[in-house]
Amino acid sequence: MSDLIQSWLPSANSPDSEFPLNNLPYGVFSVADGDLRCGIAIGNRIVDVTGLEAAGLLRADPDAEVLDAPFWNDFMDLGPQVWATFRAALTAMLKADASDDAQDAITTYSVPMAGATLHLPFRVSEYTDFYAGRHHATNVGTMFRGAENALPPNWLHMPIGYNGRASSVVVSGTDIRRPWGQLKSPDHETPIFAPCRRFDIELELGAIVGTASNRPLSVDQANANIFGYVLLNDWSARDIQAWEYQPLGPFQAKATATTISPWIVPSAALIPFRTATPPREKPLLPHLADTTAMNHTITLSVTLNGEQIAHTNADELYYSSAQQLAHHTTSGCPMRAGDLLGSGTISGPEKINRGSLLELSWGGKEPFTLANGDTRTFIEDGDTLALHGTAKGNGYQIGFGPCTGQILPAAKDPFQT
Ligand code: MN
Repeated sequence: MSDLIQSWLPSANSPDSEFPLNNLPYGVFSVADGDLRCGIAIGNRIVDVTGLEAAGLLRADPDAEVLDAPFWNDFMDLGPQVWATFRAALTAMLKADASDDAQDAITTYSVPMAGATLHLPFRVSEYTDFYAGRHHATNVGTMFRGAENALPPNWLHMPIGYNGRASSVVVSGTDIRRPWGQLKSPDHETPIFAPCRRFDIELELGAIVGTASNRPLSVDQANANIFGYVLLNDWSARDIQAWEYQPLGPFQAKATATTISPWIVPSAALIPFRTATPPREKPLLPHLADTTAMNHTITLSVTLNGEQIAHTNADELYYSSAQQLAHHTTSGCPMRAGDLLGSGTISGPEKINRGSLLELSWGGKEPFTLANGDTRTFIEDGDTLALHGTAKGNGYQIGFGPCTGQILPAAKDPFQT
């Protein structure tokens, strides 16, 4: 028997749809030259929840219009109880047995997805990127420091991360300009300032912090406070990174852009896909230990100009997003609604499971061949890279929408406006 929740909207019941009633992801959309509005994807339509709220047909907060904004942050900050109540109310309006009044309201306040423009779904308060994929950390460590020193001694005890730039986050479909930077390679004795030659992707899952906090959170508290998940591509300039990363970690190599999918898949929609983290190689300290299954089984893949070049699964993450968030707060670090936590590149055990070109081409030493006979080590100008993610349920699937970007050539003179 199928676990699809049937809707009166036929397109939501298609087994090919990324947006069945089981999903209900949060986005921000506009139509023609209209204003930006909060929307929920269902089948091939977007429900205009800003419009439903203004009309008094669907309220998240009885006291305030929190959806009258081009982002979901105010709604997020109301907390998990409100998210659940809102999800239940919207589900009732979209279910096969919804009342005529509910169906009329949805018909009035929804638009075809095909005619809508999607925007960043939330205001990114701060952005942190982790390094929680065991295979990726091992591969990169082996390339940068040799097999013996691949995993730093701290890696098996806590999720390693760095503070990124919220300002770098863009929505899927945004063009990405190849950056300039300071490069140092064995080919030249002193550093040069030049366009990046080793521009790369990182296939990641992004978790969005739902409500503000200013004290350490347990893993369970952190888990309850994750609003939802996006696909995340951490564009990375490997030659800039190799020269700058010691002693304080990535800086300009990761500051050009970070692309996310336009839809935030609610944590609630992913509960059926919960799975345990991989076996612990060293026991974690109690405050970071797993309490229950908090990873997710989500099929992930990368395409280059439409051709699949890698596939992996989110269940490879050694640390769940809940463990990442819990660790993030141990110092008392204040978190805000709309903080974005990148998981780190998710690779798997085989060559085809590698979530970055750095790994796929083994540091550029082993070019890989595309179907048309072209070879690649790193991204070339004009290439379009896309991430895809699907949680496959019984009789339905959950998707995030696209996470794509095309690479434009570097500016001739980066200081010339
Ligand atoms: Mn990353």
